[in-house]
Amino acid sequence: MSLTTRKNKAARAATTAGVNALLVTHLPDVRWLSGFTGSSAALVLLTDASLPPAKRAVLFTDGRYTAQAQAEAVGSTVVIATKSPIVAASEWIATASVKRCGFDPTQTTVRALETLQKSLPTKLRKSLFVAVEPIVAKLRQIKDDDEVAKLRAAAALGCKLFDHILTFIQPGMTEVAVAAELEHRARLAGAEGMSFETIVASGERSALPHGQATTAKLPRRGFVTMDFGVLLDGYCSDMTRTIHIGRARPGEREAYDAVLEAQEAGVAAVHAGVVTGDVDEVTRSVLRRAKLAEWFTHSTGHGVGLEIHEEPRLAAKRTEKLQAGMIVTVEPGIYIPGKFGLRIEDTVLVTRAGCEILTPSPKAWIEL
Ligand code: ZN
Ligand code: ZN
Repeated sequence: MSLTTRKNKAARAATTAGVNALLVTHLPDVRWLSGFTGSSAALVLLTDASLPPAKRAVLFTDGRYTAQAQAEAVGSTVVIATKSPIVAASEWIATASVKRCGFDPTQTTVRALETLQKSLPTKLRKSLFVAVEPIVAKLRQIKDDDEVAKLRAAAALGCKLFDHILTFIQPGMTEVAVAAELEHRARLAGAEGMSFETIVASGERSALPHGQATTAKLPRRGFVTMDFGVLLDGYCSDMTRTIHIGRARPGEREAYDAVLEAQEAGVAAVHAGVVTGDVDEVTRSVLRRAKLAEWFTHSTGHGVGLEIHEEPRLAAKRTEKLQAGMIVTVEPGIYIPGKFGLRIEDTVLVTRAGCEILTPSPKAWIEL
């Protein structure tokens, strides 16, 4: 899907929402629509189909990004603002015979809205800006071929790093040593960085669902949970594997097998048309049967793309349906305070018939 197709889709959705322009300020949304990757931008999208395409998208940024914006935002008109891009965009909208301009209330702070209103002539303040559903976030849920290729490459790099880390891990080394090795190798392999703070949680710390790597030493006997992702060409990867150092203590192997069964059942439940809340129920019910559900304290998964956590959410009671082209994680885990925890996570591409696992690293019990 070209940038033009993305902009056309957003413009059509804006028309349906009853507005004749969209003000886009969330940077990943700006990037998705315009191609611009800078850190200061606002994009105005006009829905008037009689305008030439380049006049329908106006990107506001500041002087640091003059050359970059011209190079990246192909198909948009670039305006270098001398004030904040959002204010420049708002003032421009006020003069562009736009009656109603939609904005995403989930990405707009109260203060930003006040700034927008203040930049307008009094007669427009009450009527011009209208909160609409998150149009771009919704479109971004379905990945186009170019995005699937990038997400596939990011996930493949994640798998390569996991293969390497298995040969690197030794009892007695610190969690940060493991995290640093993953991150170092990721950069050498071309990643811009990590898509979130690397989680290496070992021994009793594995009971922390978000146990960022610390100077704690890997135990001689116990779990090590590694949840990490790279940022490659702007796109995120996300995977978790839990390995065991030394012989399992009573209950550990059974717990691992139950989480693995839940994870595999969740993956098997993913296909176009399934309700996200039902996939969550599938993983949860396996852990319920194993009497471990009380320790499964988060939701089953989330969308992945330009951002590490995107729509849709695979969580209890959610009613959205998965669609072909969505890329989501399936990541049940259990966390027993004072004892241990573990999680297994894959990123998968939703297809009509099922899904394709983009992170096919082994999930069977690994004992180092
Ligand atoms: Zn993860
Ligand atoms: Zn995740």
